[in-house]
Amino acid sequence: MASFRGRRRRGPEIMLSYPQRRNTALCAIAVGLVIGACARWGPRPLPPLSLSPAPVRFEGAAAFEFIRVVAEEFPDRVTGTPAAHRAANYLRAQLRNTGYVVTLEPFPLWLRGKSVEGENVIAQSEGDSPENVAIIAHYDSQFTSHQAAEDNASGVGVLLELARALHQSPHSHGLILAATDAEEWGMIGARELTDFLKRHHTVAVISIQYIMAGPPRSVEMNCMGQFAGYTPLWLRQMLLASGRAQGASMEQATGRQEWIERALEVSEQDQGPLLRAGIPAVNVGILSTQMESSRRRHHTAEDVFRDFDPAAFQMLGATVEQAVLSLDEVPLLARGGKGSLASTSVPTSGAMVWIHGGGADDFQVTPGSYLHGGLVYAIQLLLLLPILIAAVFSAHNFAAGDIDLRGWRLLDPVSWIIPPGLATLLLYGLTELNALPRYELYPATPKDPFLYHLPFTVLAVLLTVIVVGSVELQKLRARMDTPPVPFAVKKGILFLWVAMVALVGFLNNPYAMWLFLGAFAYATGLLPPPRGVVRRSVNAALLIAAAAPFAMLLYSFGREMDSGWHIVWYLVLQTAYGVWSPVAVALFLMALVLWAQLFWISVLATHQGAESQP
Ligand SMILES: [Zn+2]
Repeated sequence: MASFRGRRRRGPEIMLSYPQRRNTALCAIAVGLVIGACARWGPRPLPPLSLSPAPVRFEGAAAFEFIRVVAEEFPDRVTGTPAAHRAANYLRAQLRNTGYVVTLEPFPLWLRGKSVEGENVIAQSEGDSPENVAIIAHYDSQFTSHQAAEDNASGVGVLLELARALHQSPHSHGLILAATDAEEWGMIGARELTDFLKRHHTVAVISIQYIMAGPPRSVEMNCMGQFAGYTPLWLRQMLLASGRAQGASMEQATGRQEWIERALEVSEQDQGPLLRAGIPAVNVGILSTQMESSRRRHHTAEDVFRDFDPAAFQMLGATVEQAVLSLDEVPLLARGGKGSLASTSVPTSGAMVWIHGGGADDFQVTPGSYLHGGLVYAIQLLLLLPILIAAVFSAHNFAAGDIDLRGWRLLDPVSWIIPPGLATLLLYGLTELNALPRYELYPATPKDPFLYHLPFTVLAVLLTVIVVGSVELQKLRARMDTPPVPFAVKKGILFLWVAMVALVGFLNNPYAMWLFLGAFAYATGLLPPPRGVVRRSVNAALLIAAAAPFAMLLYSFGREMDSGWHIVWYLVLQTAYGVWSPVAVALFLMALVLWAQLFWISVLATHQGAESQP
C-alpha cells in the first residue's frame, strides 16, 4: 500500500491502467477481425458490362483539323481577354452551323487581382425526353502557354467533331454541348454551368480534357469531385465498356488511388464542381506513350499543334460517342440526390441492369470489384472505435484521479494554434483586400511565375504575427503557475485532443481522416514513456510514420507541379483562396501543433515529470 501511494504521488507512468489497456486492445482486435472479414467477404464483383460496338460517326481527321484551328488561329485564350472572347464567338458560330441552339453565358471571376468576365458557350439539341446528356470541354488557356494545344484545344476539337457526329444520330435524350471557360482557375466555368445542367435534368456529363500528342496509349478517366463527390460507379463502368467496345484501352483510379482522390477532393478537370452538385460526371483524356515530354510541355509555350496522332482523337471521340449512344438506349429516369439512375421497364440486356446500381459512394477496390459505400463507411467508423474508447478511459482517469487539472492545463496544448490561426485570418483579410492578388478559387496555374515569386510584404506580415504571437503566448505561459506533470498526464491530455481532431476529421471527410490523421491517433496512443534511447527512438519512429502520408503526398505533388519546395507556399495560396475549408485548415493546424508537442515530450524533452521528481 505504501509503495502504491509512493508511486501515486509521483504520478502515473502510463496513460491508461492495465485493465483499460487490455480492454482497448481487445476492442482493437475485435475491430481488426470484423474488418478482416469485411475485406475478405465484403467486395462484390462488378457485373460485367459489355456493349456491342455502335456505328460511330466521329471522324478523328475532322477533330484533328478543328484542333489545329483552335490552337493556331485562337492562341492566348486566357479568360477575360479579347482573344478568349474571339475564341468563344468562333465556337458559337461552329456549333450554330452544325444545327444547335447556342448561347453565350457570361460570369464574373477574380483573376490575378482583377475582376474579369468569363463566358461559357452552351449548345443544345432537344430530344424527345426532358432529360439531357452533356459533353463539355474547356477552351480557355493559361498565361504561360501560347497555343495551349494539348491543354485544351485538343478537347475542344473533339467536342466540335462530336457535336457534328451526334447531331446526325437520332437521339431520344436532349444533348448539351458546352465549351467552358476559366477551367484553369478552379473549374469556374463548369461551376457556373451546374445550375443550367440541373434545370435541364442532365443525367450524365462527360468532360474532355487533354489529348496528349504522340502515339496514344489509353483513355484515362478522372473521377475526383471538387470538395465533395466522386464519379458514380455506374458511369465509370459505362465509359469503360464504351471504350472497350471501340477498342480503346482504359485506365482509371481504383483502390489506394481512389482513396487518395476521395480524401483530397481538389479536382483537376471540369467534372469536379458538377460532382459536388450531385450531377453524375466524369472526365476523359488521352495518355500517350510519351508522358514525360508531355509533362514538360504542359502549360508552356511548347504546347503547340505538333505531333498529334489522329488515332488518339479517334480513340477518344469514338469512346465518348459510344457512351452517349449507349446512354440513349437506357430509359433514363433521374432520381434525385445521389444521381443514381432507375428505369421503369426491365432493361433489355443484362449489362444494363448494372446502370441501376453503383452510386457515387461505392468504392472500387480493384478493377473487378467494389465495396458498397455504406460498408466502407462502417469500416472507417469501426477503425475509429479503439481510439474513442481509449479517449473515454483517459478522460475518465482525469475526472476520477487526484491530478490537478485546472482548465488552462487542458487548454494549454491547443493555445499554440492561436498564432498560426491569427495568421490565417490575416491571410484571408489580405486576400479580400487584394493585397495578395485575388484569384477566384485555385491559385495561378502550375508553372505560372506567380507561384514562385513570394510576396515578401505579405510573408513578413504573416511571419511577424506568428513570431510575436508565439513569444507573447510563451510569456503568458511563464506567468502561469505550472508545476511539472508526469509524461503520462501530458500525453493523456494531448491524446484527448488528437482523438477530438480525429473525430471532427472523420465527420468532415472519413477518407481524408484515415489518410492523414488515423495513423497519428494510433501512434499517439502507443507512445511509451521516453526513458532511454530505445524508447525515444521508438517514439520518433511512430510519430514520423504518422506524418509520412502527408509528407509523401506533398513531395509527389511538388514533383508533379514542378514546384519543389514552393509546394508549401502553394498550400498557403490554396488556403488564401478557399480551396481548403476553414474546418480543414483548423484541423491541419491542430494536428500540426499537437504533433510538434508530442514529438517534444516523447522524443526531445528531458522529463520534469515522473522521472525527475524525487
Ligand atoms: Zn491546364
